[in-house]
Amino acid sequence: MPESILIVGGGFGGVQAALSLARKKIPDTQIRFIDPKTYFEYHAALYRFATGSSPMEACIPYKDIFENNGVEILQDTACTIDLSKKIVTGASGSHYRFDTLILALGSVGATFGIEGVSKYSYGMTSATEALRLKMHILESFQTATIADVENRKTLMHIVVVGGGPTGVELAGELAFYARTLALEHGLDPTLVCIDLVESADKILGNLPERASRIAEERLRTLGVSVLLNQPLTREEIGKIQLKDKEILTATVVWTAGVCAHPLIQKTVGITVDRKGRATIDACLQANGYENIFVIGDGAATPYSGMAQTALYDGDFVANVIECKTKNHALPIYLPSVPLTAIPIGGEWALYVKQGRIVTGYRGWMLRRFADLQLFMKLLPFSKALRAFRCGYKLEG
Ligand SMILES: Cc1cc2nc3c(=O)[nH]c(=O)nc-3n(C[C@H](O)[C@H](O)[C@H](O)COP(=O)(O)OP(=O)(O)OC[C@H]3O[C@@H](n4cnc5c(N)ncnc54)[C@H](O)[C@@H]3O)c2cc1C
Repeated sequence: MPESILIVGGGFGGVQAALSLARKKIPDTQIRFIDPKTYFEYHAALYRFATGSSPMEACIPYKDIFENNGVEILQDTACTIDLSKKIVTGASGSHYRFDTLILALGSVGATFGIEGVSKYSYGMTSATEALRLKMHILESFQTATIADVENRKTLMHIVVVGGGPTGVELAGELAFYARTLALEHGLDPTLVCIDLVESADKILGNLPERASRIAEERLRTLGVSVLLNQPLTREEIGKIQLKDKEILTATVVWTAGVCAHPLIQKTVGITVDRKGRATIDACLQANGYENIFVIGDGAATPYSGMAQTALYDGDFVANVIECKTKNHALPIYLPSVPLTAIPIGGEWALYVKQGRIVTGYRGWMLRRFADLQLFMKLLPFSKALRAFRCGYKLEG
C-alpha cells in the first residue's frame, strides 16, 4: 500500500503543502486532502467581494489548482481525528486512513461571549459570510428607499467592529461602495455613515505607531468615523452598545476576533496554547507525535494568522516529509517575517515591511504585486493572470 499523506483543510497552508508535495514526486506516496468546499478561498479579496465585486478572484476552483498533478480532493468535513488509529472521520461517515497527517484547518470567528454578537453580527472569515453581508447591505439600501427618515439613517449606517487589517480594509472600501450604492438607489449619499470601532487606543495594533496613524488619517479622509477605546459590550436588533455610546445600525460586521479551529483542541493528544493553537516542535509536528503536522493559523508559531505564514508552513512540511523519506537530516523551522499590505479604499494601500512604510498608489501596486505572486504560486500562468485581473475589472 502506498504511504498515505492526508491533508485536512484546503486553504493557504493545505493547498500549498499539497502542491509542494506533488511537485516533489515522492515515490509510492498518495496525497489527498479533505475540505468541505470545491474551491480555494483567497481571503485577501473578500472585502472586495462583500462590496459588490464578483467572487471570481476570491474563490478559485480546486480543479484549476490541482490539474493532473495526482492530488486527490475529498469533499467532506473532518469531524473527528483518531491519532492512535490514524483515522480521520468525515461528516459523510467515511473514514480516511493516513500515515502522515497535515492539519491545516485555519481559524474560526470568536465573539468572546459578548451578548448578541454571534446572533446579530455579520462575519468576514469566509466567502459564504462575505456573500451574506453583501446581500444584507443590498437589502438594507433597498429597504431604505421606502423607509421614513429615522429608519433610513439606521439602514444606511454600517458599523465595522475591530480595527485590525480586515476591519480597516473593509471600512475603507465600504466608504466608497455604500455611497455609490446610495446614489444607485436614489438615496442621499450624505446619509451614509460608516463607523470603525476599536477597543484599544489605536487601530492596526501590531504595526508601528506611525503606520496606525496614517491608516486612521486615511479612513477619516474617506469619511469613516474611527471610534477608539470603545469596546462593544452588547448587541441587539438594530442597536449596539459601546463603552460610551449607543449606535442605531442595521449592519454590524464583526472582525474583532478569531481563534484556531476547534477540531485542533478537540483532537485527543494535541496540546494547545491559550489561543487554541497546537503546540509544535521544530519540524511543525504536534508535540510528541511523528508525522502529525499542524500548519498555518492552527499552529502556535510567531507569525501564524497570516496567509504568508500558512504558505511558508505548507512548503516547510513538504520539505520535512521529503527529508524523512530520503533519510536526510530534518530542517528546523525558522519563522519568516510577513509583510503587511492593507488596501484602504480604492487603489490606495498601506504597505509595511520591516519598518519601511509605503502608502498610496505605490502601496497599492506593491499589494497587487503580492496578490499576483500568490496566484502564480497556486495556478498555472494564464489562470493566475485571469484571477489577478479580476481584482482590476471588478473595481471599476
Ligand atoms: C477577511 C480576511 C482577510 C485576510 N487578509 C490577509 C492578507 O491580506 N494577508 C495575509 O497574510 N493574511 C490575510 N488573512 C489571514 C489569512 O487568510 C489566514 O492566515 C490564512 O487563511 C491561514 O491559512 P490556513 O491554511 O491556516 O487556513 P485557511 O486558509 O483558512 O484554510 C482552512 C481550510 O480548512 C477548511 N476546513 C475548515 N474546517 C474543516 C473541516 N472540519 N474539515 C475539513 N476542512 C475544513 C476550510 O474550508 C478552509 O479551506 C486574512 C483573513 C481574512 C479572514
